[in-house]
Amino acid sequence: MNDVQATGERRSIAYVFPVYNEAKTVELLHRAVCRVTQALADRYRFTFIYVDDGSQDDSAGRLQALADVDHRVTVVELARNFGHQAAITAGLDLADAVIIMDSDLQDPPRVSLDLIAKWQQGYEVVYAQRRSRVDSTFKKVTARAFYWVLRKIASVDIPRDTGDFRLLDRKVVEELRKFRERDRFLRGLVSYIGFRQTGVLFDRDERHAGRTGYPLSKMLGLAADGLLGFSTAPLKLISRLGYGISLLSFLGILYTAGVKILAPETAVPGWAFTAIAMFFLSGVQLTMQGVLGSYIGRTYAEAQRRPLYIVASVRTATGQRIPAQTAADPSERTSDRILRP
Ligand code: UDP
Ligand code: MG
Repeated sequence: MNDVQATGERRSIAYVFPVYNEAKTVELLHRAVCRVTQALADRYRFTFIYVDDGSQDDSAGRLQALADVDHRVTVVELARNFGHQAAITAGLDLADAVIIMDSDLQDPPRVSLDLIAKWQQGYEVVYAQRRSRVDSTFKKVTARAFYWVLRKIASVDIPRDTGDFRLLDRKVVEELRKFRERDRFLRGLVSYIGFRQTGVLFDRDERHAGRTGYPLSKMLGLAADGLLGFSTAPLKLISRLGYGISLLSFLGILYTAGVKILAPETAVPGWAFTAIAMFFLSGVQLTMQGVLGSYIGRTYAEAQRRPLYIVASVRTATGQRIPAQTAADPSERTSDRILRP
């Protein structure tokens, strides 16, 4: 279906790697992907896009060294740490069909061949789905809870136990580029886009070296982007809670009035009731204001229309270095200027 070998032209696939403080791993990673892709080199034209997401270690230097010896390597250096999802987006803006993989070797390079095989069968999105993972219990438990909630309330069907490790056909990448929202949850956007999607099961490895670039704060941020970005359930919760509390208060009034009329000698502890009710209501109000706040915050960020990331420099396959450009507007993409003649 997807086979264009008949035309004699090799289809291109770009590997996109977001890199944040992975100096100890990038060389090994590059060797591993070169090794696994070797077998298919006569059928596909492979390129490798490494997006250095403002690493503080020597990742950038190591990546430049890779580009020195391998002309298929493109290195995009972001001007600071913009985060995993923005880094992937920067890579997608330069590519057609892509395979997105973490660069800490947790996503095993050989699994990418299974993704390619499914793509060959005609699927436009092939996501890698974790059968097992080597991670802390905390990470496993929170991830499981997150996907459970997400699948319950999200407006699109986001497959469980998937990360950003996946293959996207050119069609999907082109559509994905149109989504320039700031609070990005790429997995959700890919589900939203549709086309023929399928999964491949794999066992997720351990991080090869270094530390996670996802401390709890970033993890919570991503979870919020997933939940708030694809569901208005928290907003609906406000009104439901409001109805519930109104009903309870009404019953309380009936009770008090009833006591007053039917058994005037029983004293209702008025002050206790008032105080508790007040605390309770302020708590509910604050929580709900927080929910509103998170949507308003997102509207604000969207209204600012800032560029999603700032590129410090791009080094292309020909060894050309192109300095500072932004790619906020898809109609003015860096890729058009850099990679397309
Ligand atoms: N990463 C990134 N920017 C960040 C944090 C992480 O580009 O701000 C990259 C990181 O180098 C890795 C991938 O995103 O390739 C996943 O991050 P990590 O392995 O630290 O997350 P975990 O597997 O612990 O969830
Ligand atoms: Mg990792």
